[in-house]
Amino acid sequence: MFHYDGGLKLTRADLAVDFKRRMPRGFISHAHNDHMARHQYALCTPATARLYHHRLGVRDVLELPYRTPIEWGGLRLTTFPAGHCLGSAMLLAEDGDQSLLYSGDFKLAESATSERAELPKANIFVLESTYGQPAYRFAPRAELVGQLIECCRAALTRGQTPVIEAYALGKAQEVTKLLTSHGIGVLQTPPVYEISLVYQACGVDLGNFVRFEGLPRDGHALVAPPGRHRGSNLQGIRRPCRIAVTGWSLDSNSHRRYGFDHAIPLSDHADFNELLEAVERVDAREVHCTHGPESFVDELRNRGINAYRLGVPASRRERMLF
Ligand SMILES: [Zn+2]
Repeated sequence: MFHYDGGLKLTRADLAVDFKRRMPRGFISHAHNDHMARHQYALCTPATARLYHHRLGVRDVLELPYRTPIEWGGLRLTTFPAGHCLGSAMLLAEDGDQSLLYSGDFKLAESATSERAELPKANIFVLESTYGQPAYRFAPRAELVGQLIECCRAALTRGQTPVIEAYALGKAQEVTKLLTSHGIGVLQTPPVYEISLVYQACGVDLGNFVRFEGLPRDGHALVAPPGRHRGSNLQGIRRPCRIAVTGWSLDSNSHRRYGFDHAIPLSDHADFNELLEAVERVDAREVHCTHGPESFVDELRNRGINAYRLGVPASRRERMLF
């Protein structure tokens, strides 16, 4: 059904799945840069197609709306929401005999800006297991959202500008939506703002957000991509309160090391418990893990699951990027 060629390939359809290098036929699970390339012909959901065009230029795409099977390359292909960012999808491939569910980045908990994940059952489950260690168990989402809002309100009361560092695609829009729905206006740096316009065009209302022109505004927080602005156009923000929003916040003292005032583990990835839950729900007879730590495969085997590693383990640095 599949083989490994520097990434997952669906053999019969010769379809490369989430390859970072250009391929003749590539499925793109979502529009983060570590999951796509300028493929000759790409398959993805309509929202991912818009984001793909935005990031890499307009290219040939076959759109696969959620829950709408197509026959393609000798396979029946269906996408399901992955809950990670707008348009993110899992791919179910069936050949009449076996079924394989592929999941790139996903999250089971609700999100303010993407559809909640759905997990069909399959014989084979291939998944990214980024936070596959017991240390990565996130507190309930409502609690983390509460922390974020409190941090921002307290900073504004002190006369500071909350500067929330979040990936330009996905996390930045979710943070924006959370803040604006709690009455906090949002400034966005240009890369974030442009992607937010794509979200709006896809029908995701992000509330009161404006493009950052170099100066703070009363009652507004700033959302910027991580680490890209040092010494640049944030100089107009004289009293920043820097807030990191990432699952890696659970690493002890990591935020102080990078100069953050607060770090909140509000993630758009499944935590350790959600990874286990996903494996249980898909109920596959074999599970293949990518990107996560080696120990997650052992964890599954200890639980009696027929689990394997697919490809070489990603370095921690690689896992941190998206
Ligand atoms: Zn991602």
